[in-house]
Amino acid sequence: MLSDHEFIRYSRSLMLGEDGEQRQLALRQSRVLVIGLGGLGAQLTTSLVASGVGQLWLFDPDRVELSNLPRQPLYQSADIGRYKTDVALKRLAAMNPAPALHGFRQAPTDTQLLELLPTLDLVLDCSDNTSTRLQLNRLCRQQHKPLMSAAVSGQQAQLYLVSQQGPCYQCLFGGPLTAEASGNEAGTNTDNNTKTNIGTNIGANTGNAASRKGSQHDHPRSSGALPNCAPALQNCRTLGVDPALVLLAAQQLAWLALQYLQGQQVPWDHYGFYRHDASLLGFRLYPLAAEPACACCAASSATSPPAALADLFTGT
Ligand SMILES: [Zn+2]
Repeated sequence: MLSDHEFIRYSRSLMLGEDGEQRQLALRQSRVLVIGLGGLGAQLTTSLVASGVGQLWLFDPDRVELSNLPRQPLYQSADIGRYKTDVALKRLAAMNPAPALHGFRQAPTDTQLLELLPTLDLVLDCSDNTSTRLQLNRLCRQQHKPLMSAAVSGQQAQLYLVSQQGPCYQCLFGGPLTAEASGNEAGTNTDNNTKTNIGTNIGANTGNAASRKGSQHDHPRSSGALPNCAPALQNCRTLGVDPALVLLAAQQLAWLALQYLQGQQVPWDHYGFYRHDASLLGFRLYPLAAEPACACCAASSATSPPAALADLFTGT
């Protein structure tokens, strides 16, 4: 049961229903992996730790840069040059000392993920490159772990909610990526990859090591399954990024994660899309489309969830 301290700390959340204590206990017992501590990940982890999620594993190889500060308020001017993981662990622990926090100054390796995934309840992808997204998708699929992913660029934001039964993240790229290609930058970002739609989706990315940062926030194809979807997003280094939209997307992802960890319904196998538009005040959802030739999940026969879910977030 919750301690007196926890009853006071989480009192406003506990008021939300008769099952408040059970939901809070579920959060306390939860084990969550977050990849990326940039604008999305920094905000996301802040919400998860403040809400009382029990254990978090955090991966990010980057150091704090001056240009991060407008949209990553977890970091301060004096933190420039320090590893984001180090700063995040310190700030998050000061905010709520109860959660167990595990930080890694690196991108996760397959070996680390294969060891960690069986112990986790949820994986949250806030990474800035396609290879990491596909790596997480592939291994989460193998290990039967739910995956939520978010990306923001310019004035557009996207969410992906990937379960084990429906289409996977790799399906969004529309072609039969090989298992080898899905795990490396060249295979995911080259314009010359004629086997996939990725070259047309990521535009100017070249796929070499120097362009790794340039590949961040890349996005999948528009398709019949994603009506009104904007053309493929480029990346925040060429298009900029709206700081307020980063916070909005991070909080949307945090809400979905917390809902799931508390045993509430989540619209798995949907794609959430937000763009700056006076007629659209929230994330609009579309069913993810299965790619029959997907090398990752083609064996599973995916079906689209009910269309009624498509407007779940509209107007929020
Ligand atoms: Zn797939």
